[in-house]
Amino acid sequence: MNRAWRCGKCRGRMMRGNTMKEKLYTIELTDAVKSGDECLFCWLERKLEQENLEFVLGSSYMEDDIRGETSRKGFCRHHTKMMYDYGNSLGNAWIFKSRLEYVNQELKKQISRHVPGKGAGFLNRFRKAEEPGSDASSPAETWIRSEGEHCYICGRMREIYQRMLDTFVYMLRNDPDFGELLMDSKGICLPHFADVLMICGKRLKPEEKQMWIPRLGELMTRNLDRVQEDIDWLIEKYDYRNQDADWKQSRDAVQRTMQKMAGIYPADPVFRCRK
Ligand SMILES: [Zn+2]
Ligand SMILES: [Zn+2]
Repeated sequence: MNRAWRCGKCRGRMMRGNTMKEKLYTIELTDAVKSGDECLFCWLERKLEQENLEFVLGSSYMEDDIRGETSRKGFCRHHTKMMYDYGNSLGNAWIFKSRLEYVNQELKKQISRHVPGKGAGFLNRFRKAEEPGSDASSPAETWIRSEGEHCYICGRMREIYQRMLDTFVYMLRNDPDFGELLMDSKGICLPHFADVLMICGKRLKPEEKQMWIPRLGELMTRNLDRVQEDIDWLIEKYDYRNQDADWKQSRDAVQRTMQKMAGIYPADPVFRCRK
């Protein structure tokens, strides 16, 4: 069972495969495309991230297997900050107490490998790291850096996001209403558009690509032009000659342009525990 969605909201349809059933996020994608957001995938990712924070800092940390996993995997800088901001000091204390115990234990092992005279292999590695101009890193450094690469929350989100991309292709193929909603939407941000091009390139048949790649390109450029107009007008509005002119759609043009460029919501308030 995929723990990521044990906390509920398992509303999508199932796709029958030969060996396994893959969840399809058709309802989530339809909600996203109807949201009026600058990017349906940003909208989905934000929702997914918030649900994951609620899961991690809900009561899951009291389950040994989950806390074992969060202790081994840890959290990236971005999600560590989000966990602090979310609240639940006791939950964070349990999670980070266990993580600290694990890191402390592992780091001791890695540091002990630096001590000269503990065997030729370890000694050679130590010496290499010390040689001027050598690019060999110490075991402890390599281990610490690798610890930053497997955030528990990022990992859960990556898995579901991949399924959402698969669902996007499934819906382009099988749901004409979704295709029309998409073409009437505000489009996709730049980073998510790269993922869409990647998945369409991999999964669509040649004749489907001939139809969808130009349409998606047109959706992108049309909406980038719209946001460009908005941010251009925002600058114009600062001209004293335009002080009484209408703002049009430009009041929030800075954050929407940032979202289109970077796939983020810079104006979002901090996400806190809602209980
Ligand atoms: Zn996006
Ligand atoms: Zn992360």
